[in-house]
Order: sequence, then C-alpha cells, then structure tokens
Amino acid sequence: MTGKSDKEILANSMYEDDPNGNSAPTTINQESGQPAAQEAATGGATTIPAATSPRWGPQNKGAQELASLYSPGKRAQEIICVYTCIGLMIINLALIVKHLRWERISVAFLSALCGVITADFASGLVHWAADTWGSVDLPLIGKNFLRPFREHHLDPTSITRHDFVETNGDNFMVGIPILGYLAHYFYSKSPCEIQQNFGWIAYVFLCSIFVAMTNQIHKWSHTYWGLPRWVLLLQSCHIILPRKHHRIHHVAPHETYFCITTGWLNWPLEKLRFWSTCEFIIERVTGLKPRDDDMKWAKKLT
Ligand SMILES: [Zn+2]
Ligand SMILES: [Zn+2]
Repeated sequence: MTGKSDKEILANSMYEDDPNGNSAPTTINQESGQPAAQEAATGGATTIPAATSPRWGPQNKGAQELASLYSPGKRAQEIICVYTCIGLMIINLALIVKHLRWERISVAFLSALCGVITADFASGLVHWAADTWGSVDLPLIGKNFLRPFREHHLDPTSITRHDFVETNGDNFMVGIPILGYLAHYFYSKSPCEIQQNFGWIAYVFLCSIFVAMTNQIHKWSHTYWGLPRWVLLLQSCHIILPRKHHRIHHVAPHETYFCITTGWLNWPLEKLRFWSTCEFIIERVTGLKPRDDDMKWAKKLT
C-alpha cells in the first residue's frame, strides 16, 4: 500500500520490539548514511562497521547529543503548559456536559469526527515541516522545537523513556489557546447561542483534545510492553495511531506517513503524493533540500 516492502522496512529502521534494543548489526556508508546492503545495489562506496556508534538507539552519538540539549527552562515551560491545559480541558468538558442536549447528539458527533480529522492533518503538517525543514542550529525553535524530532528518528524508543511532562508539554501548549478560546466562548454567549453553535463547539473541543494528546498517542505507538488494555483496544480499532501503522514512518529517510494522531489521513495523502508535491514546490522556490538537517544527524557516528 505504501510502496515499502517488509524487507525494506526491516533494513531501514530500528527493531523497536527488541527489548535489548537497537543492536541489529549493520554497516553504514560514511557518505550517504545508508546501510551497506542498500548501497551495494547502487554501487555505493566505502562502508565502515557500525560498531563506532549504532545507527539507531540510545547509544547513537547524535541521539545522545540531542538528548543533552533538553534544558531546565524548557522543562519549566512544559510543566506550566501541562497543568494549564489539563485545567482548561476539565473546565470545557464540564461546560459541554452541562449544555449537551439529546437532539444535538448527531450534529455533535459528526462535528467531533471532523475535529479529529483536522487534528490528524495538523499533526501530519507540523511533523512533516519539522522533519523536513529547518535545523537544530536555528535560534529559539532549533533546540526547543526541532531537536525532539531529530532525536526521535535516531532513537525512536527514547519517547518511551520520557515522562508525561516531556512527552506532552509542547502539544498541551498548542491546546491552551484553543481551549482558552472555547472557555471564553461559553462565558460570553447566551445558552441559546451555545445551542445553535453546538456543532462548532464539539468540533473545536475534539480537535484540541486530539491535538493535545497527539504525542501521548504517538508514545503509545512506540510502546511494546505494559500498555493498558483500553489503549491496545483503541489501537486495534484504529481510533488512535496503531503501532504497525506508525512503523512505516520510521523507515529511512522518513519521507511518508507523517500523521500521528489517528493516522487516518496517511494513506490518502500518500496516494495524492501530497507531501512530495509540497517538497517539490518548496525546493523549486527556495532551493532548500528536504531533510538536509535530518540526514546530517543521521550520519553523526562519532
Ligand atoms: Zn518523523
Ligand atoms: Zn514515531
């Protein structure tokens, strides 16, 4: 369905369900960062044993350098965002339950579904932009925003070792203005206006909840042990991103399946060649090469 065979997936990504982690023996071409097996087919140049630094996982030098850039200031911002967003989620949920009327259920359900789809697209757009463009050296956004995306490709399981705050801080931050707007909406409109616009309210609420939960859902898609049964059920019903589905993104050079909330849009966007068309246009206009910085980190072996 994606143009990637099982063999390609195994050759170009990390074994996440290996408890000892990331020890698959491989050799890397120094210039391209590609495995020797793949290079051999294209007449690739000198290869070196991967022993200096594993290509993926916690022992990878690039991954270690990126992890060390997580600062106390960033941690403080994440703690504030997590608490504020959870507070707003509770307030809005209470207001929605208070105003929910039986006759509005079908409108609310359909709007909520559109909200979830919007959140899935937003997750793909942000993930694609961060994976494909920019550099960790950029002021402000480089270390604070792009760093986790680079780290995640080099060590996909690092997310499973992050606590709730580090996993969710940034996404909860995005949820704050949307949920803040919604809470203000409830207090500034009459009950009649709220009923008339209940579909819109359900859309905004579900969209913001799924945006906020995106990285937690993403973390679950990398977790192979100890997941609660209800999470496994949601994954197997494809209500949230399933593990096997997200595995397709984690194949070098990480150029497809960017949606990480439900993953519903990955297949249609791939069929439409949506991301590759965006990259083609941006490269033509700006001259920038997609995934330049990501490739640079992937080659960091010492
Ligand atoms: Zn990615
Ligand atoms: Zn991932």
